[in-house]
Amino acid sequence: MHADLIIVGAGMVGSTLALALKDSGLKIILVDRGPLTVAPFSPEQPFAPRVSALSMASQRILERVQAWPGVLKRRVSPYSDMHVWDGSGTGKIDFSASSVHSDVLGHIVENTLVQDALLEQLHASDITLVADTSVEQLRHSSAGWLMQLSDGGEIHSPLVIAADGANSAIRSLTGCATREWDYLHHAIVTSVRCEKPHQATAWQRFTDEGPLALLPLQRQDGQHWCSIVWSVPAQRAQEIMTLDNAAFCQALGKASEYRLGTIEHADARHSIALRQRHAKRYVEPGLALIGDAAHSIHPLAGQGVNLGFLDAAVLAEVLLHALQRGENIASERVLSRFERRRMPNNLAMMAAMEGFQHLFQADALAVRWLRNSGLKMVDNLSQAKTLFVRQAMGLSRDLPDLAKP
Ligand SMILES: Cc1cc2nc3c(=O)[nH]c(=O)nc-3n(C[C@H](O)[C@H](O)[C@H](O)COP(=O)(O)OP(=O)(O)OC[C@H]3O[C@@H](n4cnc5c(N)ncnc54)[C@H](O)[C@@H]3O)c2cc1C
Repeated sequence: MHADLIIVGAGMVGSTLALALKDSGLKIILVDRGPLTVAPFSPEQPFAPRVSALSMASQRILERVQAWPGVLKRRVSPYSDMHVWDGSGTGKIDFSASSVHSDVLGHIVENTLVQDALLEQLHASDITLVADTSVEQLRHSSAGWLMQLSDGGEIHSPLVIAADGANSAIRSLTGCATREWDYLHHAIVTSVRCEKPHQATAWQRFTDEGPLALLPLQRQDGQHWCSIVWSVPAQRAQEIMTLDNAAFCQALGKASEYRLGTIEHADARHSIALRQRHAKRYVEPGLALIGDAAHSIHPLAGQGVNLGFLDAAVLAEVLLHALQRGENIASERVLSRFERRRMPNNLAMMAAMEGFQHLFQADALAVRWLRNSGLKMVDNLSQAKTLFVRQAMGLSRDLPDLAKP
């Protein structure tokens, strides 16, 4: 098989890139080791354990690739406020969508539902989908890439995009260097039913062990559900994972200071090791890395896939401009334009997460005092808060056309 462009990884980011390029005239092949089938949806089905807080910019990108209606017809949970507090002091910050004259700060959406909405559009397009197949080998020559697949197939193409997630095989096969470190923390994720309503608010408590987020989930039956991301040291995660359901609900209620009352029920828990990674370069001739293949960050601010959607939108824009100008889209000269626009933004977000992580993990009394008084100070600065809200909504960066209003 031959393609003008192979995208490896049909996750949220790779699928979005493919759809953003579907009318470009390029022959695109999208390869994934998963089945790439759309699952039936019922409003009564349990919540999927992995969710994302999607920014306004991500919503717009999904609208432009016509996947957002598919997300809406399944299940989304809009949230309008965010309440952040320090568990070992009195510092707190409240953010509200009304401060930027918006109804919502964003939407909490189950990853599998975003994926299915994207898949529906992919199946309706001319993009060639290669499912249940992973990449075994990749060789580069003057004629371009030769990709060998696990089903014995081969694909030739001048351009390969790695969208195959944090443990990217393409990144390893091509020897792309990364800077990475272990947070020595695990995130425990699940959905829980709470005693009190979540008030369309994302609740985040910083504890000495790590941050705990309760993200509002919407259900038609009036029950109060939240998705939790509870980040704790590896040893503590192991202890929490072995608790029975009642003991887990009790521990979580205590850790959340019962802000939403008692925790009445918890679904199955998953523990995910947290590791920060950043590729030193996102591009080389004939190759670009996007989404988690290029960068994976702490879930603390819920920004990972939001950065990935912006990567996809910027890369699509760069490639479409280059095509219009008759340039070689596989050249490093063209691909570097993508890297120059995305790397500084992604690095800035990673540095901010790093700063937060250290600030909230420091035990020293002086640091605790600083973060408590810092939180209170920022809470009283309406301009700084508005800036932060716009940043979290994905509205204050160099936005690609797909993310503009
Ligand atoms: C606990 C937790 C909470 C998070 N919360 C948020 C949040 O609130 N907001 C947010 O923006 N982000 C959040 N994130 C980050 C977000 O989940 C990731 O950034 C996002 O899933 C990355 O998407 P992706 O498409 O780049 O990669 P992935 O979702 O990892 O997709 C990669 C795809 O590539 C395929 N693949 C992998 N290897 C191969 C191979 N060798 N051959 C073929 N196919 C392959 C896989 O099957 C998959 O379909 C969170 C992360 C964690 C851990």
